[in-house]
Amino acid sequence: MINRREFIAAAASTASLLAQPTYEWGGPALDIHLHLRPDGESDFAHITGSGVTKAVLLTRVDAVGQAKALAEKHPGRFVWFVSADILKPENDALLAQAVKGGALGFGEIKTKVECDGPEMKRMYALAADVNVPIQIHFGDVPQPSGNAVFNGGFKRFDKMLKAFPKTKFIAHADTFWANVSADYANDTAYPSGPIKPGGISDKWLSEYPNLWADMSANSCNNFLNRDPEFTTGFLSRHQDKLMFGCDCSCSDGRGGGNTNPSPRLHGKCIARETLAAVQKMSKPEVFRKIRWENGTRLLGIAGQA
Ligand SMILES: [Zn+2]
Ligand SMILES: [Zn+2]
Repeated sequence: MINRREFIAAAASTASLLAQPTYEWGGPALDIHLHLRPDGESDFAHITGSGVTKAVLLTRVDAVGQAKALAEKHPGRFVWFVSADILKPENDALLAQAVKGGALGFGEIKTKVECDGPEMKRMYALAADVNVPIQIHFGDVPQPSGNAVFNGGFKRFDKMLKAFPKTKFIAHADTFWANVSADYANDTAYPSGPIKPGGISDKWLSEYPNLWADMSANSCNNFLNRDPEFTTGFLSRHQDKLMFGCDCSCSDGRGGGNTNPSPRLHGKCIARETLAAVQKMSKPEVFRKIRWENGTRLLGIAGQA
C-alpha cells in the first residue's frame, strides 16, 4: 500500500512526464521551409506527423491573416515568412508592413529574374532595412516540372554577398546544392555521384558570415545522399550555418500522397528523410544545431521550444 503523500508524489511525476513533449528527433526541431497550405490544418498534420516542433510557414502577403490565425490556434508551433510579387515595387510597403505584423523573414523568394538584377537588389536592401533574413530559391537549370530559371546567375551571387553585408541570406534549391561540388557543369538540377571539394556554395558558406543554407527539398536531400564521407565533413564545417527544412508536400508527415518523381522520395516524407540523413551523418551536437539552434537563433526565437 502506498500512503497518500507517496500517491500524490507519484501522480505529480506522472503528470509532469505527460506534460513534457516527446521529441522524436532527440530534441526540438524547426522546419524552416513549409508552405502554407489552403487548409492550414494540413500543415499542422505535417509537423505533428514528422516530429517537428515548430515550422516557418511560407506565406504570400495576401494570406498572412491565415498564417497568423493558424499560429494562434496552435501556440508555439508556427511562425511565418512573407513573400509577394517582387516585380511590383509597390509591394515593398506590404512586405515591410507584414514584418511589423510579425513576419520573421522574406520567403520564399522565387521569381524569374537574375539574382543580381535590380529587383533582387531592391529586396536585399529592404530585407536589411527591416532586419529579417531573405530566403531565396536558386534555380539556374530547368527542372522536370518546368523550364523556368529563378534568381538566375548563381555563379555571380558572391558579388551580392559582398555588396549587401547587412542582409541575412538563406540559400535554397537545386543550384545552390549542386554547386557544393566544384565540378558542377550547370546541366542538371539533381547531379549524382561523388562530390569534388571546392565548390562555390561550400566556399561561400565559409567566407561570408551573412550566408546561411536551407536544407529543404529534393535538392538538399539529393546532395546529402551523394557522397556521405564528404557530407559528414561539410555538415561539421558549416554546423553554425545549416538549417533543417522540408518543402514537403506530403499530407501527414509520413509520406502520404507524396508523388515526388524521385524514387528516393516517392511516397516518403522529405522532412523525415532529411532529418534521418543528417542525424546519421553528424555528431549529436551538430545535429542539434542544424535541426533547431541555428534557425531559432537567426529568427530571434531561441529558447522558444
Ligand atoms: Zn523553392
Ligand atoms: Zn512530408
